[in-house]
Amino acid sequence: MPESVDYLIVGSGLTGGTLARLLSDVGREVLVLDRRKHLGGNVYDEVHSSGIRFHTYGPHLFRTNSKGIWEFVNRFAEFYEYIHQVSTLVDGRYETWPITTDTLLRIAGEQWEPGFLGSPSNFEEASLRMMPRIVYEKFVRGYTIKQWGVDPKTLAAQLAKRFDVREEGDRRFSRHRFQGLPRKGYANLIANLLSGISVRTGVDYLQCRSQFHVRKMLIYTGPIDEYYNSELGKLYYRGQHRESQYLPNINQIQPDSVINYPGLEDGNLVRQIEWKLMMPKSEQLTITGTLLTTERPVYPNSPDEYEYPFPDQRNADLYAAYRKRADAEDGLIVCGRLGEYRYYDMDHAIGRALVLAKRKLGLVVSYLDSAAEIEY
Ligand SMILES: Cc1cc2nc3c(=O)[nH]c(=O)nc-3n(C[C@H](O)[C@H](O)[C@H](O)COP(=O)(O)OP(=O)(O)OC[C@H]3O[C@@H](n4cnc5c(N)ncnc54)[C@H](O)[C@@H]3O)c2cc1C
Repeated sequence: MPESVDYLIVGSGLTGGTLARLLSDVGREVLVLDRRKHLGGNVYDEVHSSGIRFHTYGPHLFRTNSKGIWEFVNRFAEFYEYIHQVSTLVDGRYETWPITTDTLLRIAGEQWEPGFLGSPSNFEEASLRMMPRIVYEKFVRGYTIKQWGVDPKTLAAQLAKRFDVREEGDRRFSRHRFQGLPRKGYANLIANLLSGISVRTGVDYLQCRSQFHVRKMLIYTGPIDEYYNSELGKLYYRGQHRESQYLPNINQIQPDSVINYPGLEDGNLVRQIEWKLMMPKSEQLTITGTLLTTERPVYPNSPDEYEYPFPDQRNADLYAAYRKRADAEDGLIVCGRLGEYRYYDMDHAIGRALVLAKRKLGLVVSYLDSAAEIEY
């Protein structure tokens, strides 16, 4: 006999976790499954034996412009202020990232002109609209080739919206109104988010669909193509191979917690993270040594390694075909970064879940302010 449940949520990341919380808050019966051994999806974090906290799936900085979303996450964790800064290593020198106007002037001269004028049709043109070619070549082109494994001219222009050129002295990686990190980590935040809700880890829903009878709604936050056995084709992703190294005798090695490596001479290394620098200053002082993680992009084989949806037309069209199928099915919501094949920041994942709770589940959602809703 299949197990009956009103709401079955596949995936315990921020999308599934937020929807589970909202449903549970109004007394609905919910069961959350995750095929990983832990809860939290890609925001999961751990603590190294040295006491240094690291994020298992790459650095996750929380930021949002929405007061409602900020209040929502603060319900489950205390946050400390952390303003993220990034440097990029260009010609052997640490430069600020995103690029600032003084760097442009120093490298390209007072009379610099954008490398492209007009309406951009691809990522390279969109980047060149912001900066001269020499700066693009040094800061952006190599990083992009390594990150995506293709010529930047083949990538969507929209991807260039992820960065801009800043005024001199503006070192904030992000200019969001609320920024911080959970004092006890994301794994703890997720445990609180899902507190009192039935959860099962190590269960792959796609391997045991027939074991469940869903009375009201199946909410699936895994890869949409996998849900349909890749019948129309596979969606492409980029992922990263991470290698970590603990240096017991070194206190600090980098000027910032994240260093970008845009040079093609650095092989496929794109970033190195020094985790300690993300911890509160008072905690940093109590730590011996430092923990570093390098990131090298790959085409992942396992869905657990899927990170960035591939920003080109082939994948946009294929996703649209899967979306049509999912939207035609009653009793099913396919959502989240893997279900909607879309890069969502954490606040966007939560905001999107709030919107779906209102529109598709008919819930009254108090955290949904205009800053949260406006983006979807
Ligand atoms: C490298 C990287 C860095 C990032 N940094 C930031 C950052 O600094 N700031 C920021 O705001 N955002 C960041 N993000 C985005 C953030 O990770 C996402 O917003 C968030 O993870 C989305 O949550 P989700 O629940 O949609 O997906 P996920 O976290 O991926 O959760 C989906 C869950 O579904 C489970 N699942 C899938 N299929 C099945 C199945 N068949 N059966 C059972 N379980 C299944 C998975 O195991 C997973 O746990 C980053 C993302 C990446 C890739």
